[in-house]
Amino acid sequence: MIPIIKPVMDDREADAVRRVIHSGWTTQGPEVAAFEKEFAAYVGAPHAAAVSNCTTALHLALLVAGVKPGDEVVTVSHSYIATANAVRYCGATPVFVDIDPVTFNMEAGQIEAALSERTSAILCVHQMGMPCDLAAITAIGRAHGIPVVEDAACAIGSEVLWDGNWERIGRPHGDVACFSFHPRKIMNTGDGGMIVTRHAEWDAQFRLLRQHGMSVPDTVRHGSPQVIFESHAVMGFNYRMTDIQAAVGREQLKRLNDIVPVRRALAARYSEKLAGDNGLAPPVEPIYARSNFQGYCVRLPVHCDQRMVMQAMLDQGIATRRGIMNAHREAVYSDQQLHRPLPNSEAAQDSCIVLPLYPQMTHDEQDQVISALKVACGAS
Ligand SMILES: *Cc1c(COP(=O)(O)O)cnc(C)c1O
Repeated sequence: MIPIIKPVMDDREADAVRRVIHSGWTTQGPEVAAFEKEFAAYVGAPHAAAVSNCTTALHLALLVAGVKPGDEVVTVSHSYIATANAVRYCGATPVFVDIDPVTFNMEAGQIEAALSERTSAILCVHQMGMPCDLAAITAIGRAHGIPVVEDAACAIGSEVLWDGNWERIGRPHGDVACFSFHPRKIMNTGDGGMIVTRHAEWDAQFRLLRQHGMSVPDTVRHGSPQVIFESHAVMGFNYRMTDIQAAVGREQLKRLNDIVPVRRALAARYSEKLAGDNGLAPPVEPIYARSNFQGYCVRLPVHCDQRMVMQAMLDQGIATRRGIMNAHREAVYSDQQLHRPLPNSEAAQDSCIVLPLYPQMTHDEQDQVISALKVACGAS
């Protein structure tokens, strides 16, 4: 069986967990603090706060960006449903704009028409690790005084061309960016998330809200020779990352310099072998983006039936996924008023498939995927 992804983990992660178990401190503590520091250094951010997953990261990012009940947030429907859900957690409404069919990312040219006096944030996504058009999107945010939140769930190690230099996603280029450490992404802590921001006051708010709004973190109380009474001035949440997860994350972070180039090389090999054949369209990096290829998404030729292709490949022992979902097509969003049609978003879901890609993948396995895909497309 060729899976869609395989985690890269061994005794290094197991030993890190062992260390934490024996330390006597298991939840948010010294490992989380060290992980935050190392993560911030990797992406080049001034502040990083670890949380339980990327969905809670997005919730806090939007809240602290000032998204309130009754507000609107301009975002994409073509994303994992957590993107739109985070907007609704704030009592706000997602206003969906369509994607660019080539990059699968927010079409920046559609944002201005979607703004209203109730718009309080732009929530862009670096879909499948492909950086979106941050220069255009942040310029619109600045021009209208609207904060830009980056859903960077899939984009650790991806780079964007910024003022002539390649910079990692997460400095951040908007006001705040949120990452995921779910096993389906590039770095895996079981579950986990990170919020990076350029604003020191926002970082302080994230730290307060992730821990029940508690005025003094328990690490400080435990380490203090004086008795300290904590207080709760705002309603917070329990969105903590555990030290067990953070210890794993620190090991995973060290692997990125190996993992990302291997993923890119495998993606380039896929593209080289798929291009020009059977009308298959491999993903394309725009000039301003270098993807980590968290997802390698191929557009099928018009005559190909997506489900039949996926089934034919599964029959050969090869796992695939269909194109990224559209939140507006799910029952939970059926009451959502669509301000404009989203043809590119829907077509991307219906006519693309995501191929297996993991650093341990051999050229032989990759060749099996390529030939099974070509046969399946020819046959359907
Ligand atoms: C996976 C994903 C999320 C959710 O991340 P979790 O860590 O599982 O909460 C949010 N947005 C996008 C684009 C994702 O791919």
